[in-house]
Amino acid sequence: RRRYAGRRVLVLGGGRSGVAAALLLARAGARVALSDVRERPEFAELERAKVSVRIGPQGPEVLEGAEVVVKSPGLPPEHPAVRAARERGIPVVSEVGLSLPLLPHPRVAVTGSNGKTTVVLWTRHILALAGWEAVAAGNVGVPLSGVAGELSPRARLVAELSSFQLEDMRLANEAFRAEVAVLTNLYPHHVDYHGSLAAYAQAKAHLFAAQGPGDVAVVRDAPETLALLEGHRGRRLLVGLRRPDAPWAAFVREDGEPRLALAFGAAVFPLLPVRALPLPGRHNAENALFAAAAAHLLGASVDALVEGLRTFSGVPHRLEYVGEFSGVHVYNDSKATNPEAAATALAALSGRPTVLLAGGLERGESLSPLAPYFAGREGDLRALIAYGEMGPRLAQAAREAGLGSVHLVLTLAEAVGRARELVRPGDVLLLSPAAASWDQYPDFEARGEEFRRLVREAFAAPSGP
Ligand code: ADP
Repeated sequence: RRRYAGRRVLVLGGGRSGVAAALLLARAGARVALSDVRERPEFAELERAKVSVRIGPQGPEVLEGAEVVVKSPGLPPEHPAVRAARERGIPVVSEVGLSLPLLPHPRVAVTGSNGKTTVVLWTRHILALAGWEAVAAGNVGVPLSGVAGELSPRARLVAELSSFQLEDMRLANEAFRAEVAVLTNLYPHHVDYHGSLAAYAQAKAHLFAAQGPGDVAVVRDAPETLALLEGHRGRRLLVGLRRPDAPWAAFVREDGEPRLALAFGAAVFPLLPVRALPLPGRHNAENALFAAAAAHLLGASVDALVEGLRTFSGVPHRLEYVGEFSGVHVYNDSKATNPEAAATALAALSGRPTVLLAGGLERGESLSPLAPYFAGREGDLRALIAYGEMGPRLAQAAREAGLGSVHLVLTLAEAVGRARELVRPGDVLLLSPAAASWDQYPDFEARGEEFRRLVREAFAAPSGP
């Protein structure tokens, strides 16, 4: 902490992470300024902590007087002020890098294209059941700089790291060494930001490069993920397949029933049956394997794994079970902000007749992941109610693929109203928008909350004539 006492530090970007970083620095006795292009309500707290807030354009001139720059993960790596700082030799520290010296706790770090938050919170839940003081932080609600210096020495940290955060660390030559580093999967999302799939993979690989010989990489047993372990000095635990040559976590069949299992050499630990998991879908069963492996490697017993896998209540807005309303099972999957995620939800619910509400910000993404569901080749989609900016394109794609019941409305409220008329007892009513929320909502959380409220209202009133 003393490292920053009395020094003039500029925090670039005032999102949740930037604000937490500025407060951390202020507590450490630094002379802190925070720059953002617009005012936010949270900045009031900064003023009270004597952080000077600079609102306005973020050209190179904002660097005036700064001895150190802290970069928020929300800014692009080639942000003009960040680039100017590097050119002038002003050290650029990432928000995560700033926090690391104050987080010497045993830890799991989780990255990947999908499933990060679910794996992080599931791992935390298992560790907590096993008796640890377990803290989830990073790209999951509380920033790392918000917990740095605040945890008891006995705590176990479960950190979610986005590829943006890892890329910032790579560029700043910072190492996030984790006893257990998890990579759930690698899909070509986020490629816009990183420029290419290779650069995206490189950001993820940075996590494994920081591991020492005693540390463990937990990765999906697939060529694209294994490729990131080149030069890795630690051990590995592979997820997905049973391997003779490495510890693994995978599904095994016992008494004709698929179960989760963990194995170290000849010692195989069957965990619980897949059907006993509280979250639906193959993808969540995989997330369970990652969480079980990570928690076990950080000290949770096999008994704690079984208990923790069985009792996790899930993550809001990710295939969240809202409840049963007049015999209809309602799920809120507002976090599904692209077509692939919506397809994942439809796959998870297959076997159950589903009325899907979808739509939102139009980004021109290909709808091909949804095509087999619209065509009835996969899943059990009974009707689509499309809304928002992307509504017309979704409706058209569904009609062209041959889905019989397709409805186009303007808003989510109208979509829920239409759904109320359409659903039958035994149906699933699913919000899985396949699009970002920003055409009509500030974020996916607000959209999901509104959905829950609309459903409660719609089903409280008597339906139909
Ligand atoms: P992240 O934090 O990486 O965004 P989440 O756990 O919040 O991941 O899940 C977001 C969405 O990603 C889920 O709603 C689901 O559609 C999809 N998803 C989750 N886990 C997986 C997985 N293991 N494989 C593929 N898709 C997944």
